Amino acid sequence: MHDVSDLLDGPALALDRYCREVTVDVREIGAVLDREPDAIMDYLDRPSVRFGWYGAIPARFWPELDIPADVREGLGTCVGMTLLAERYAYADPNVLLACPGPSLSAGVFTALADRQRYDSYFSLLAERPVHTFFALTEPRKGSAAAELETTLTPNGDGWLLNGEKCYIGNGAGAQLGVVFCRRAPGPFGIEAVLIDTSRPGFSGELLPSVGLRGVRISRLRFDNVQIPHESLLGAHLRPTRRGLRGALHILYRARPGIAAMALGCAQAACDYLALHERAHAGHDRFLLEAILDRIAATRRLIYDAAAGIDRGELNVHRIGGAKLAAARVAEDATLLAAELLGPASLIEHPWLEKCYRDVRAFEFMEGAGNIHTLSVFQGLLKGNFLDAHRDVDSHAARN
Ligand SMILES: Cc1cc2nc3c(=O)[nH]c(=O)nc-3n(C[C@H](O)[C@H](O)[C@H](O)COP(=O)(O)OP(=O)(O)OC[C@H]3O[C@@H](n4cnc5c(N)ncnc54)[C@H](O)[C@@H]3O)c2cc1C
Repeated sequence: MHDVSDLLDGPALALDRYCREVTVDVREIGAVLDREPDAIMDYLDRPSVRFGWYGAIPARFWPELDIPADVREGLGTCVGMTLLAERYAYADPNVLLACPGPSLSAGVFTALADRQRYDSYFSLLAERPVHTFFALTEPRKGSAAAELETTLTPNGDGWLLNGEKCYIGNGAGAQLGVVFCRRAPGPFGIEAVLIDTSRPGFSGELLPSVGLRGVRISRLRFDNVQIPHESLLGAHLRPTRRGLRGALHILYRARPGIAAMALGCAQAACDYLALHERAHAGHDRFLLEAILDRIAATRRLIYDAAAGIDRGELNVHRIGGAKLAAARVAEDATLLAAELLGPASLIEHPWLEKCYRDVRAFEFMEGAGNIHTLSVFQGLLKGNFLDAHRDVDSHAARN
């Protein structure tokens, strides 16, 4: 596994060591999730799954857990979450994605919730294994998220939610989730609401998928779901500071973590290849080293972006570029491994076959490749691709 110590310091190094130790059984659990995506609930007593569950919950809400203080400290940053994502994905990305906990909704609460709502949400998620979702994508409106059509209309004391979402991670089996919807036309008419999936009018179905099955992508429908007033997140903020802005705030900051997941898979595929290919010579060796060089360069881009976010800088073009590079190298690494291990490699190496299927999801998660290519192009055109941008939304992470 790759050494990232030159990119990290202090608590992040402690977190790195801890993640390496705690993820020893993650590949075994990931193989089970590939067959039975709901099986994560059978593994809640495993330290790897408990840490995956609590990792995105601020440590002050945790029950007594045998986790050293410097490891907890390492988690509270974008670098820490990126590292966690890479280490789990190196073993198997499905496990972290299948764990209960706040997932991307953590960012929504950090950006939009008032103190009381924030505390009660995380207390609940730390108390018991609750699955949550973050529902932005709609059928035919994936990359054009600002055109979303799910509606929120006033109804007595609260609101009615109507519409449809698709490709939502953990959607069908979740107990709670954040839904982005439209209260009025235009980008500032978008809102985020917390939904309890036991409410009448909510339905969800698991979508069949060939890879990354632990994330359980789902289609969700809302048919006159009653939303109480207090479930509208960020109501105390100006419309320009909530809704879509909240979604983007979260997606930009989560993107290094998704990029790191793709990278963890790429590194794992290369290490697997190096372990199983006997020849290691000539042109094959050159091809493997070329991919390893790309992985190393992409890793630097990802951790630079994460460290920038921790310093209060947000260059969305570079973050998009890092995610794009990571998704591509993950596909290329699995293709190379399959090719160099021979014509029957995907039959003879079940782990590689699964990794080969899993990594294709990274092209679409957190924005499709073409959209990030356009963003890189715009950054270059504006001449600020390499600049450190001040993060106007930056605020200290709550803990
Ligand atoms: C495993 C997985 C988990 C996911 N989890 C979630 C989740 O939890 N919550 C959530 O809200 N969403 C989730 N998504 C959805 C994801 O964010 C979308 O798939 C993504 O935004 C792309 O949208 P789309 O699939 O509708 O593709 P589209 O936007 O329809 O794009 C289809 C193709 O057209 C290209 N394209 C689109 N627009 C342009 C353009 N302007 N110029 C050039 N090319 C273009 C794209 O690059 C792509 O190749 C998940 C997806 C996956 C695969």
